[in-house]
Amino acid sequence: MFRARRALGPPVDRLSRMSRIIESVLGVFSVDMGIDLGTCNTLVAIRGQGIVLNEPSVVAVRKGTNQVLITPDGQEAVGWRAKEMLGKTPGAISAIRPLKEGVISDLEITDAMLGYFIRKVNGKRRFVGPRVVISVPAGITAVEKRAVQDSAGTAGARRIYLCEQPLAAAIGAGLPWTEPQASMIVDIGGGTSDVAILSLGDIAVCESLRVAGDDFDEAIINHMKKTYNLMIGEQTAERIKIEIGSAAPVGDERTMDVRGRDMISGLPRKTVVSSEEIREALQEPVGSICDAVTRTLERAEPELAADLVENGICLAGGGALLRGIATVFQNATGLTVRIADDPLTCVARGTAMFLENIDYVRTALESDLDA
Ligand code: ADP
Ligand code: MG
Repeated sequence: MFRARRALGPPVDRLSRMSRIIESVLGVFSVDMGIDLGTCNTLVAIRGQGIVLNEPSVVAVRKGTNQVLITPDGQEAVGWRAKEMLGKTPGAISAIRPLKEGVISDLEITDAMLGYFIRKVNGKRRFVGPRVVISVPAGITAVEKRAVQDSAGTAGARRIYLCEQPLAAAIGAGLPWTEPQASMIVDIGGGTSDVAILSLGDIAVCESLRVAGDDFDEAIINHMKKTYNLMIGEQTAERIKIEIGSAAPVGDERTMDVRGRDMISGLPRKTVVSSEEIREALQEPVGSICDAVTRTLERAEPELAADLVENGICLAGGGALLRGIATVFQNATGLTVRIADDPLTCVARGTAMFLENIDYVRTALESDLDA
């Protein structure tokens, strides 16, 4: 009896060993999925396969309801299908970005969106649900986290983990985030920018601000109104930002034809804008993000701040692609600033890699639910 007990170990150990065996058998049939639930774009990465889905975080609904629109071909209007409707929606339809401000503005719509993306990726593999890691905006509440977990569970995830986006960005950017030394990540998304200093696998100081890519677009819209009496749409503003926008002079000044509606005559009209004036228009939102970077540095422990003299700052998110933005941060902080490889997919790749580090990141682990 004694020997038998010894051989099998205490009952709790036996149980956890059993569940580990079941888990590893199930693991053979399931995938590990990392989801970057961004304010602009949702990306899904699968371990060993890379990015398998990259769609706008947009859902089209019947106006005044939470009913996801079904297109004539019987599909839910989520992602690309819904984005096409943004700004062009007829009266009865509205296209919603449920995470726009970095908080979940509508739980039901987020639920529909997340479920749609998970089912789309998991597609034919109905047999065993995937293990899913979801990186969520750093500022969301416990209730919102719970809602995200429930949505993933409903969509068939077998195990669900949440990870804060700055941590995922640091993993994706290949920063030495588990080391006893500081690294700093600035993730400039669409609706929010996250500034964080990490050390020993955890976030030491962090600030999330609601100034990011969308605000660059808005600044361009306001500039066109004020200077040219020209109304332009969000998509046009984004195109101007990507084609000729900059945060600091980059030695390549350009011009661009812009079409919109004249605010006085109400008629369509075209004008020419220069990269210099767009840079001027972007000063304010870029400055706000830069202030958050210096504020975060000031809040860090001296030892951590000292490490950053060597390690510098890493930029991720679509906003990192704005020309000259690294120069602005470099001038303001005196630190070296580099842009992560492929900044738009950084968080998604990091999220998929999160499971490899699962033992290390217990502190970041928000939940571990059995679906
Ligand atoms: P989120 O994580 O919030 O979904 P992303 O990291 O996907 O956001 O970044 C989206 C933002 O990046 C948008 O505001 C988009 O306009 C901007 N963006 C994408 N490409 C560029 C570019 N080349 N230059 C400037 N901004 C860009
Ligand atoms: Mg993001």
